[in-house]
Amino acid sequence: MNPTDLSDLFKSVSLQDAEITAPVARCFALVPCAGSGSRAGTVMPKQYELIAGQSMVMRTLNALRSVRRLERIVVVVSPTDLHELPDDAVESDSSKNLPRIDQIKCGGATRAESVFNGLTHLLSEGSKNSGGVQPNDWILVHDAARCLISELEINRLIDACLTDEVGGILALPLPDTLKASVNGRVSETLPRQDKWLAQTPQMFRAGQLHAALSAKAAENFDGITDEASAMEMAGFAPKLVVGSPHNFKVTYPSDFALAEDLLRSRT
Ligand code: C5P
Repeated sequence: MNPTDLSDLFKSVSLQDAEITAPVARCFALVPCAGSGSRAGTVMPKQYELIAGQSMVMRTLNALRSVRRLERIVVVVSPTDLHELPDDAVESDSSKNLPRIDQIKCGGATRAESVFNGLTHLLSEGSKNSGGVQPNDWILVHDAARCLISELEINRLIDACLTDEVGGILALPLPDTLKASVNGRVSETLPRQDKWLAQTPQMFRAGQLHAALSAKAAENFDGITDEASAMEMAGFAPKLVVGSPHNFKVTYPSDFALAEDLLRSRT
């Protein structure tokens, strides 16, 4: 055997060892679902409103569940929430290999706090059980209120981020002219180049995202409007992956009819 063969053999052995010992990062989804939806003008929290015959949160969960690469989907609801997920959502369907869905009641006063509490719960569970979320695993945080997300878009984000050092978010380049206002009148036209509208899912390593949120916990997560903003404050530059205009967050009363029309047009 000549020296070149030997070094090739050595390389292949160490690569195999690395594959055996390096923990494989898996993908989990975390769905903040503890908001009251005050801007939506609904009687109950907007995520439980029916849209085209099914609750908004179930539509969101079904879209996530179609992504078989997700190990498990965890929904964070308020500790006082009495809504139960339907049995067919919670039952794991091993024959179809669908990701399991669990509801945990640790939502907080803000979206950031709900995500932080959910992550703390998952990582603590994972520290006792290797099947649970490990710091190296990916977490895809997705708003319950973005019920028009599609399997295609979630997979696009995962494909773009799985080999990335930081992770990233679905987002849309800003299509319109951007204005600043004072007292309901335009004060300035702002440059729109390089401006993006952030969406979800947002995909980061569980441990890094938890540390980034933890650093802002003492300040009540001030300035943290999404996971990327926490990661940015921790010094990371999340990747931007083009999403879809359909993946809007159902927020105002008129959004319900638009979401319903779009969902009906898909069938
Ligand atoms: O209120 P908004 O639509 O911006 O909330 C985005 C997502 O965050 C929703 O799915 C909502 O249920 C969730 N949320 C939460 N905990 C809060 C506030 C919002 O989980 N305290």
